[in-house]
Amino acid sequence: MIGEPPSIMSEIVHEVNTVLPEKKVRYLMGCGYPEDIVEAVSLGVDLFDCVLPTRNGRTGMAFTSEGKVVIKASRYAEDEAPLDKNCRCYTCRNFSRAYLRHLFNAGEVLAGRLVSYHNIQFYIALMAKIRAHIKKGSYSTFKKNIIKTLDFRNN
Ligand SMILES: [Zn+2]
Repeated sequence: MIGEPPSIMSEIVHEVNTVLPEKKVRYLMGCGYPEDIVEAVSLGVDLFDCVLPTRNGRTGMAFTSEGKVVIKASRYAEDEAPLDKNCRCYTCRNFSRAYLRHLFNAGEVLAGRLVSYHNIQFYIALMAKIRAHIKKGSYSTFKKNIIKTLDFRNN
């Protein structure tokens, strides 16, 4: 499932999940955008893996609660805020956007590791929210609300 437009992916996942046993774990490989994960969960997918959080992290793109942050952009040169003000990961607790940008510009390997670390935490938190809303029976409302803020593919 790599490279298809989201509408085609949803259609295929829906079709496949009509024939897969409901009691077995359903795995979707290569689905990595948060908005696609939220959609796929609503279609019955349980398990994902994708390079996106670390591949994008290594190149300076962060997934944040307020959308995509491309940390190498000049607008972050003097930004002392954390990568994501709503995140408590090691990177966000200890490093500013300006410092992360400096690390990237200096070619420091640590830069990609710190942004990847944050991105993985972002995905862990997203999956925790998904599980919590499924348990509460509020997943469809959660999905409607979060899809409005998750547009990493286009922004
Ligand atoms: Zn963080």
